[in-house]
Amino acid sequence: MQPTRPQNIVIIGAGIAGIACALAISRELSPFVPDLKITVYERHDVLSTSGGAINLTPVAQRHLALLGVLDELDRMGPEGGADVDAIELFSMRSGRTIGSINFTDNQGKGFGGYKGRRVMRIALSVAMLTVAERTRNVEIVFGKKVIDGEEFEDRAVVRFKDGTVAEGDLIIGCDGVHSAVRTRFVDVDRPAEYTGLSFLQTTIDSDTLSSTPHFRASSLNISRHGSMLASYCDRGCEQIFAAAIVQFNREGLGRYRLEPGQDWATQNRIRCALREEVRDRFRKCAIPCLKEIIESKADWMLYPVYQVPPGGRWYLNRVVLLGDAAHAMPPRDESAAYALDDAILFSRILANYRSEPLTEVFDAYETLRRDTINHAFKESRRMWEKNRDMGLLEGRLKEWMMTYHLKSNENAREAAWAFDATKISLPTPAPSEDLVSLNSFLRDRTL
Ligand SMILES: Cc1cc2nc3c(=O)[nH]c(=O)nc-3n(C[C@H](O)[C@H](O)[C@H](O)COP(=O)(O)OP(=O)(O)OC[C@H]3O[C@@H](n4cnc5c(N)ncnc54)[C@H](O)[C@@H]3O)c2cc1C
Repeated sequence: MQPTRPQNIVIIGAGIAGIACALAISRELSPFVPDLKITVYERHDVLSTSGGAINLTPVAQRHLALLGVLDELDRMGPEGGADVDAIELFSMRSGRTIGSINFTDNQGKGFGGYKGRRVMRIALSVAMLTVAERTRNVEIVFGKKVIDGEEFEDRAVVRFKDGTVAEGDLIIGCDGVHSAVRTRFVDVDRPAEYTGLSFLQTTIDSDTLSSTPHFRASSLNISRHGSMLASYCDRGCEQIFAAAIVQFNREGLGRYRLEPGQDWATQNRIRCALREEVRDRFRKCAIPCLKEIIESKADWMLYPVYQVPPGGRWYLNRVVLLGDAAHAMPPRDESAAYALDDAILFSRILANYRSEPLTEVFDAYETLRRDTINHAFKESRRMWEKNRDMGLLEGRLKEWMMTYHLKSNENAREAAWAFDATKISLPTPAPSEDLVSLNSFLRDRTL
């Protein structure tokens, strides 16, 4: 395959991986490719407001700072998210403290200068989009749902549902866990799988609660019927984001899906059923503030959790998958950081290998990334098993073991937060035949 310096790059999906990838490629490749053009195609007509809040780890924050997104979040004021020094863990059964995941060292400083942050997804998307809009060679086009694609010798093409097409020297699929770029194009035998677990999420005004929250910024509350996350998601601590992580039958998913176009009675029936589901599971909660949230009239939304088992194909000749499209794992606090790492590492390799065929870029990227992702996937799955429904004894054991797990994983967690995708050394392209013969010619002459 002929070397190409990609000039016209198409990214599918304006999520965390897609926009981060556009910003990182613009940063890395612009100095070498003056006419660089990056176009991001997103299936929604406008930014999606769903999805609740997301926790950003120190490493995710550091990467967002590098891309200019953190400044934008900070400029939003209270809506830019709540600082999280630690996620405190509690037993829902007894109210007892189990331990904490600390985002600060023993001097109270964040890792590499950054702590954790809980922010509404819509705020993060707006911040990312604002930075993308002022980046010279990046354009975002909404209302473009990819349905399939094709590769040719000199380009790749994607087709959209509205009948239009886009073509590029390089196509990057960042279209999330149900990626059409993956399932219709790169690896058709790899659909996402339901994990058997779902999130039930809501936000609630903190001044509607009569009991004082039991946590400083963020808490994970453990029970034998799943866990309940409760966290402030704005700097003014006016809103609490609550998410129950629970085992949920695949058969039940359809019955609880809220969709546009449903009549009022259907929507009301689903809302009541979801409220009941939360009450049934966590009725015996011993923490007053949580008990109030559980008993409240809040509207819960169901988010089934899917995964893309590792081991599948990540690329063809001109198309590559990044973020959840390549390797969606049961979500953990680090998941968004993996999507950001992908974007930054891929962009750096693309710039390093700019005179090489794209398949060499993809090979180098996969060699660097595959083991880390496989390991992270296994870890996530192991953690998620703890949210399955358990008997009384097993539930007690889970609580006791949690303190030990938190302690024994502390070093690994802190090492992960120290990871800096901008600094790790990259493979370098093998010298081309011309360069090898020039070097041997020069060496022969000096001998
Ligand atoms: C319930 C839940 C809670 C989570 N909580 C956390 C957390 O607290 N911390 C954390 O780090 N991670 C969390 N995660 C994981 C995190 O959200 C993902 O890892 C991250 O969003 C992956 O980013 P992405 O850009 O690869 O995919 P996405 O964020 O899913 O973005 C994909 C984009 O592609 C678009 N798209 C999809 N199909 C098409 C198509 N056919 N054509 C064009 N565009 C398309 C989508 O509309 C979307 O904009 C959570 C995940 C879930 C499901």
